[in-house]
Amino acid sequence: MTKMKVAVLGLGIMGSGMARRVLAAGHELTVWNRSRAKAEPLGEAGARVADTPAQAAQGADVVVAMLADDAGSRMVWTGEAGALAAMRAGAVAIECSTLTSEWVGQLAQAATERGIGFLDAPVTGSRQQASDGALRFMAGGDAAVLEQARPVFDAMGSEVIHLGPTGSGATLKLVNNFLCGVQVASIAEALVMLERSGLDVQRAFDLLCTGAPGSPILKMLGQRMLDRAFEPQFLAPLMAKDLRYAEAEFGRQGITLESASVARARFDAAVKAGFADRDMSAVVEAVRS
Ligand code: NAP
Repeated sequence: MTKMKVAVLGLGIMGSGMARRVLAAGHELTVWNRSRAKAEPLGEAGARVADTPAQAAQGADVVVAMLADDAGSRMVWTGEAGALAAMRAGAVAIECSTLTSEWVGQLAQAATERGIGFLDAPVTGSRQQASDGALRFMAGGDAAVLEQARPVFDAMGSEVIHLGPTGSGATLKLVNNFLCGVQVASIAEALVMLERSGLDVQRAFDLLCTGAPGSPILKMLGQRMLDRAFEPQFLAPLMAKDLRYAEAEFGRQGITLESASVARARFDAAVKAGFADRDMSAVVEAVRS
């Protein structure tokens, strides 16, 4: 296997698992995170810990970013001591965060102007898949650039699907998370209905799971809501962000995303109620209250 010099920027729930897979595959890894404490365990595992995104990106063949939102991505790639200006021409920048295709387009242009290959490659899968190297990447950009970075994708995931030009991954990811977010908000409402109606909640829930509404997300998130198991896999404010981005993205195609805006209000309410650092399943608490 080709060993590469890889930098991973952003070591939250997803980025830390992805970085560990890169290290486990034998690549030479440098990491950076805004709060340095999250980088230290990777340093102990054998990665070099950089002080800035620029320092991490210097000399890298592939730079991967996994950040909360457009603002974080902008700061890390193009802000002061940003990664892009430090990368060598011919290297590859991979943006895996869930972002607007508008920002992704601007970022791709900035990379291209510097002779850097750029891919938007957001992911499906969560904490477990990130740490197991089982993520699926939805990639937009040049197919040849994707091939150049394939050893890094192979380390982090089970599949990388090339969807088309730059922005394709970002767009599909927002459609994906729109469908998830609306379902999660509606599951929360349905379960509180079960709780208040006097039905045997677990029995009723199990029946729903085996019927037409029994989607993977109902089975997984619904049970977490019933168990009040809110250990973060996917943070509630990130789903509010994704729905907000989806509303803007669909709006650009003339589609008013009415179901997303009411679902987003549920996630915003959960964040306001103190569940900002809890899993998105905590949205049920905004309905219970
Ligand atoms: P997370 O645990 O909250 O991590 C967010 C990361 O972004 C942290 O490293 C954080 O740094 C960094 N960050 C935030 N704002 C920043 C800023 N202004 N400047 C620099 N760094 C900043 O989130 P996550 O779950 O890993 O998610 C990362 C991305 O993947 C998000 O776009 C999310 O929507 C997407 N995603 C998540 C999942 C999931 O199941 N968790 C699944 C698919 C996609 P600090 O540590 O310093 O705060």
